[in-house]
Amino acid sequence: RSQRHHARSFLLEFQEACATPVARLRQVVDAMAVEMHAGLVSEGGSRLKMLPSYVDQLPEGDEKGLYYAVDLGGTNFRALRVQLGGKESRVIKQEYEEVAIPPELMIGTSEELFDFIAKELTSFVAREGDDFQPSAGQSRDIGFTFSFPVQQTALNSGTLLNWTKGFKVVDAIGQDVVAALQRCIQKRGPEMRITALVNDAVGALAGGRYWNEDVMIAVILGTGTNAAYVERAQAISKCGSTFPKSGEMVINMEWGNFWSSHLPRTPVDETLDNETMNPGEQGFEKMISGMYLGDVVRRVLLKMAQEAALFGPNVPRKMLEAFSLGTPDISKIHADESSDLKVVGNVLRDVYGIQNTSLAVRKIVYEVCDTVAERGARLAAAGIVGILKKIGRDGTHSKDVGSPVHPESGKTVVAMDGGLYERYSKFRAYMQAAAAELLGDASKDVVIELSKDGSGIGAALLAASIAKNR
Ligand code: ADP
Ligand code: MG
Repeated sequence: RSQRHHARSFLLEFQEACATPVARLRQVVDAMAVEMHAGLVSEGGSRLKMLPSYVDQLPEGDEKGLYYAVDLGGTNFRALRVQLGGKESRVIKQEYEEVAIPPELMIGTSEELFDFIAKELTSFVAREGDDFQPSAGQSRDIGFTFSFPVQQTALNSGTLLNWTKGFKVVDAIGQDVVAALQRCIQKRGPEMRITALVNDAVGALAGGRYWNEDVMIAVILGTGTNAAYVERAQAISKCGSTFPKSGEMVINMEWGNFWSSHLPRTPVDETLDNETMNPGEQGFEKMISGMYLGDVVRRVLLKMAQEAALFGPNVPRKMLEAFSLGTPDISKIHADESSDLKVVGNVLRDVYGIQNTSLAVRKIVYEVCDTVAERGARLAAAGIVGILKKIGRDGTHSKDVGSPVHPESGKTVVAMDGGLYERYSKFRAYMQAAAAELLGDASKDVVIELSKDGSGIGAALLAASIAKNR
C-alpha cells in the first residue's frame, strides 16, 4: 500500500510538471508566432526552419488527368494514383497501396531506400487498370511526399537537411532526393517524372485546399508532426524580392523542431531526448507526436516500477526496452470506459506480461496516459493558434490586418492529417477543446477538420495543378 502511495505521489508530481494551464499555453502561442517571424526573416534565425516550398499555387478543383504520388512518411510508405475529372466530377477514381517501411532501410543506404520506393511504385504502376487514363500525349507525373526537412531549390528539387523520426540514412543528407528517386525509377523502367517534391504538411494543405478554398493551414500528427500554411510572399524576407505572381507561398514550418522555455518539459522528456538518434532536435515533436507519446508513458511507468514497485517486486523486463509501448496502446488504454478498467489490464498483460493488476494500479496507468496525451494535444493546439495569430486569424487583430487572402466565408480551415489525429479520439477532443479555449470568440471562425490521407493525395493534386499551369 505504501508503495502505491509512493507511485501516486510520483504521478502527482509528473502531472504538475506536465500541466498546461491556459496562461502557459498563451506563452507557447506567442512564442510560436515570434519564432515563425524570426525564421522567415533570416536563414537560421529560429529553430523553426520555415522552409519555402516553392508552392505558390494550390489546387483549385478543375485539374484533370491521371496523376501518381508516392509518400514516404515515418512508418508507412504509400503509392497512389488518382484520376481527376475537373470541377464537376473531381476525383473519378483513386487507388492506393501501403506497406510498412522495412526497419533496416531506415538506417541503410540512400540507394537501398530510394530503390525500395521505386520498386513499390513500379509494381503499383504495372497494376494500373483501364479506368485510369493519362491524357493523350501526357506522361505520368508523380508528386513525391517526403516528410523530412528539405531545403528546396525548386518545386521539383531539394536537398535533405537532416533525418528525423528514427531514420539515419547518412549518405542521403545533402543529396537531391528527387534526382536520387528519379534515377532509381528510370533504372526500373517506367516512363514517369517527379514534378513536385512536397513535405507531408504541404501535401495536406494542397489536399485540403482542393476541396475547400478556406484551408490556410495544415497540420500533421502522425509518427512525427509538422505544419504548413499560406504566407504572404512579402513576409518571407529571407527570400529577397523575387515574388511569385500569386503573391503567396506555402511555408513548410518544420514545427517539430520548435522550442520554447515555456514548454512543460520533465526529466522524463530529457532522458527520452538523450536516448534518441537526434538528441537536442525535434523537441516539440518529442512531446506531441505518435512516435514518442507511448515512450514517454513507458518511461514514467518504468520509473514507477523501479522506484515504487508499481507492478510488484520485479520490473517487467520488456519495459526496459525503448518504444515497447506504442501510441496505439496508449489510445487503447485511454479509450477504456469500463468501471474495472479491463482493457488497461489486457494491454499490460499483452505488452508486458503483467498478470492480475489491481484496479488502483490500472487507474494509475490510465492517468499517466491521460496526462501525456492531454499535454501533447494542448501543445499542438497552442501551435495551431500560434499560426493563426501569425496570419491574423486568431481574433486579436482588427479585420483588415494580416490576413493574406480572400475567404468570403470569413472562415479559416485547418486541415489535419496523420494516424495519431485520425485514430486517437481523446487526443483529438483535448486538442479541439484547448483551441476553443485559446480562441474564445474567434473559434466560431476557425474550423479544424480531418483531411484524411490529404498528405498523399495532395502531392498528386499538386502535380496536376503544376501540369495545368505549365
Ligand atoms: P506516417 O506518419 O508514417 O506518415 P501515419 O500518418 O499513418 O504515418 O501515422 C502513423 C502513426 O500514427 C503511428 O506511428 C502511430 O504513432 C500513430 N497511430 C497509429 N494508430 C494509432 C492509434 N490507434 N492511436 C494513436 N496513434 C496511432
Ligand atoms: Mg504521413
